[in-house]
Amino acid sequence: MNPTYTIALVAHDNCKDDLAEWVAFNKEKLKQHQIVCTGTTGKIVEAELNKGVEKHSREYIRISLLKSGPLGGDQQLGALISENKIDFMFFFWDPMAQQPHDVDVKALLRITVLYNIPTASNRATADFLISSSLFGSGDYERKIYDYTSYTTRKLK
Ligand code: PGA
Repeated sequence: MNPTYTIALVAHDNCKDDLAEWVAFNKEKLKQHQIVCTGTTGKIVEAELNKGVEKHSREYIRISLLKSGPLGGDQQLGALISENKIDFMFFFWDPMAQQPHDVDVKALLRITVLYNIPTASNRATADFLISSSLFGSGDYERKIYDYTSYTTRKLK
């Protein structure tokens, strides 16, 4: 059986149209997985995944919404990653705009590297990631690094 992933989708304001277009293009693949988004991105993603579907119908896809990024959503996402609850992150972050929660964005990107989460920061990488033969195949086991030597280090 193919695995169901938990996929985080986030986009900064100037990148939200790009993500919405990408979600529409990859709707059939994304529909098979759990989606988690920061607040504002989530509303756009949910609308895109449910175009033409009644809110109360069985086909309506509900996604998990965190807080808006600048209000703590990126930190919530980082916490989920540290609890091993996220399998992929697609985060279209804006390289041309200063963000009020810049430190949170940096922390989130760091935590994805720390926990070896496949992460796409732009559309081209997102395209490659989602169209990889490994995506959805169950044939790939992500390496979990052992940080025991860190957690058991001797403190003076
Ligand atoms: P938003 O947050 O989806 O609430 O706009 C994006 C972000 O994390 O910067």
